[in-house]
Amino acid sequence: MSAPAPVSSDLRHDWQRGELLALFELPLPELLHRAASVHRQHFDPAQVQVSTLLSVKTGGCPEDCAYCPQAQRYDTGVQAQKLMDTAAVLEKARQAKAAGASRFCMGAAWRSPKDRDIPKVAEMIREVKALGLETCATLGMLKADHAHALKDAGLDYYNHNLDTAPDFYGDIIHTRDYQDRLDTLEHVRDAGMKTCCGGIVGMGESREQRAGLLQALANLPAHPDSVPINRLVQVAGTPLHGTAELDPFEFVRTIAVARIAMPRSMVRLSAGRESMSDELQALCFLAGANSIFYGEKLLTTGNPDVERDQALFARLGLRPMPVQMENMHDGHRNDGPGSGTVHADITEPAPLCGRAA
Ligand code: SF4
Repeated sequence: MSAPAPVSSDLRHDWQRGELLALFELPLPELLHRAASVHRQHFDPAQVQVSTLLSVKTGGCPEDCAYCPQAQRYDTGVQAQKLMDTAAVLEKARQAKAAGASRFCMGAAWRSPKDRDIPKVAEMIREVKALGLETCATLGMLKADHAHALKDAGLDYYNHNLDTAPDFYGDIIHTRDYQDRLDTLEHVRDAGMKTCCGGIVGMGESREQRAGLLQALANLPAHPDSVPINRLVQVAGTPLHGTAELDPFEFVRTIAVARIAMPRSMVRLSAGRESMSDELQALCFLAGANSIFYGEKLLTTGNPDVERDQALFARLGLRPMPVQMENMHDGHRNDGPGSGTVHADITEPAPLCGRAA
């Protein structure tokens, strides 16, 4: 086992799994201290970015992600719906903005968008952006030309999760492989959009594999701007229903190690937050989480309502992170070529495709 890595503000892309595992194995107070120290180097720890996620096309997905109630092959009771009208999406976006969201993520349960889908989604992006919200989409695998078309429409972020460690991936998804995900992320980066990319824990993976997920994320060519860490929401009818629950402290450790490994990224509490106590969420914020989904249903699983979140923010002395408009057009990335800007600008996207809800 490697010695725990020292706290550093340097962005690294050469993390070894053993180093991250060593962080996981620190006494929890020590791990929290290290993560909180890194968090303060780059962010105001009292600010939490707030995003809203709307499913603009639900269910009927041909993929076989073992956690997902939207896969048509699983009998989960999710009714497939067609792509929403732009007007209906806009109404939801206005509500999200009024409730304090700074980023609006639109998710569609597709393997990948078809050519005919792109103009419709592009229209939604343009209209939502015109409201003054940051925009994010999660539409499945993306070809290079589609990525450029979405960027041209004004898309700020694209969500595409790695889901889990490369060596556990084959236990969860069989209809596409890890390289497909990496290719989509490359197209998103090449088009100049920010990436939202994280994973899901509590799917039966080992701690070493949780470290492997974070290693894969941190060693991408650029750290994802947003890193949603989802806790599995077990849905009856999916293959993962009945999986042993992850120890909540292990979830906190995962957040803390993500914060240390990707110090300038927004680390987001995503799917699974509804079932977390206020105290567990507070521990996650201490561990460096600084983004949440808020309000609207998190795809097809529930999310704490706005009032509960506002009350929790008030009790903890937290405040929503404002949209930084200057970052809405600059293709800013939190590392990689041309970066150098540190941080606390951004808002967040969704845990979809591999999305976690
Ligand atoms: S996670 Fe995305 S790609 Fe996988 S089954 Fe669900 S909607 Fe389809």
